[in-house]
Amino acid sequence: VASASKESVTDSEQKETEEAPNPVRTFEDAFASYPEVLEQIRKQGFLKPSPIQCQAWPVLLSGRDMIGVAQTGTGKTLAFLLPALIHIEGQSTPRSQRVGPSAIVIAPTRELAIQIDSEVQKYSYRNIKSAVVIGGTARYNQVENLAGVELLIATPGRLCDLVFTERGPNLDITNVTYLVLDEADRMLDMGFEGEIRKVFLNVRPDKQMVMTSATWPQGVRRLASSYMKNPLMVYIGSLDL
Ligand code: ADP
Ligand code: MG
Repeated sequence: VASASKESVTDSEQKETEEAPNPVRTFEDAFASYPEVLEQIRKQGFLKPSPIQCQAWPVLLSGRDMIGVAQTGTGKTLAFLLPALIHIEGQSTPRSQRVGPSAIVIAPTRELAIQIDSEVQKYSYRNIKSAVVIGGTARYNQVENLAGVELLIATPGRLCDLVFTERGPNLDITNVTYLVLDEADRMLDMGFEGEIRKVFLNVRPDKQMVMTSATWPQGVRRLASSYMKNPLMVYIGSLDL
């Protein structure tokens, strides 16, 4: 993937020589420093990490931007979710002083957002506060749940409704430092490019960013090259370039 913005060309060129971290082979390898995360994984009874998880975890825990391209059912949710929880726990500003979420996962559909949230419930530890904002249900209930939220799962339309309202925003995303775009290809197919770009431009410029996609079309490449900083691309199977 071509490097990100013009301002950071030199920076990106230097970083491009950096090698990708070695993939992990086991859950213990990936999360040796995070026993609470290991504990949550153990409860699921999984035998081993999926290939995309083996690759993605060390990349994301090192703080780099990443694009994960792999078919449905390959375990992409946990690939970005466990590093998101670790990222939130690692924030230096005390919880009570943070304004708005530290991490946002944007998903194309309500069903997917709800599914991701149920994964969050399974793996969350130390009472990380999460919330879901999706269209099609009353907005005020969702707004009430936003107080103190650290991890937000959202569909693009409702997210923008809450952030960019003329009546005064319900949600401050300026302190978001971990941003996931799940199923980016589907999101573009559904016509959400405008919403996505608006969100990208309003989160913290030094955020870490993750994109997942089942395919690797031109539109997704363009998004990645305009907003991601020297991302590592991890893919499973053929890219069909
Ligand atoms: P994707 O987002 O790539 O379509 P999901 O993250 O939804 O895939 O995962 C598909 C299923 O695989 C889920 O039920 C999930 O709980 C399960 N899963 C995830 N990681 C593992 C693993 N390491 N071992 C076994 N099952 C897993
Ligand atoms: Mg998925």
